[in-house]
Parts: sequence; C-alpha cells; structure tokens
Amino acid sequence: MAFNPIVDKEKCTGCGTCINICPVNVFELKDGKSEPVRAKDCIGCKACEVNCPTGAIKVEEKE
Ligand code: SF4
Ligand code: SF4
Repeated sequence: MAFNPIVDKEKCTGCGTCINICPVNVFELKDGKSEPVRAKDCIGCKACEVNCPTGAIKVEEKE
C-alpha cells in the first residue's frame, strides 16, 4: 500500500499544524500554503488529515 497526501490549497490557511505533526516531515510551507514536498515518504498515519483545522488534507491510498 502506498499513500498520497493531497492539500486543497483553497482550504489551506497555512497554519502549520500538518507540518509540525507529520512524523516523516512530508510538508513544507510554500507561499503561505502547505505543500506535500515529500509525499513519497508518507506512511499513511492520517495525523495530518485528522488534525487539519480546515479539512484541507486528504490522504489517498493506492495499491
Ligand atoms: S493543517 Fe491544514 S490548514 Fe494548516 S497548513 Fe496544513 S493543510 Fe494548511
Ligand atoms: S498521513 Fe501521516 S505520514 Fe502521511 S503526510 Fe499525513 S501526517 Fe505525514
């Protein structure tokens, strides 16, 4: 199973929660929005999806 975290830039406020909470450091702030620059490292824990205050993150699961 592989995982692909996606950020809806319209919903992201750049609060930084996902950046701080991700255990494998997937996200970086770019132009005030979270960017999943290391999406390939995602382990699918969903901490980002659950804790984003605006529901901007969706973690896709891929075979
Ligand atoms: S937790 Fe949500 S709103 Fe905050 S920076 Fe991450 S994606 Fe954006
Ligand atoms: S699901 Fe977990 S590992 Fe993947 S980007 Fe979100 S916090 Fe990081």
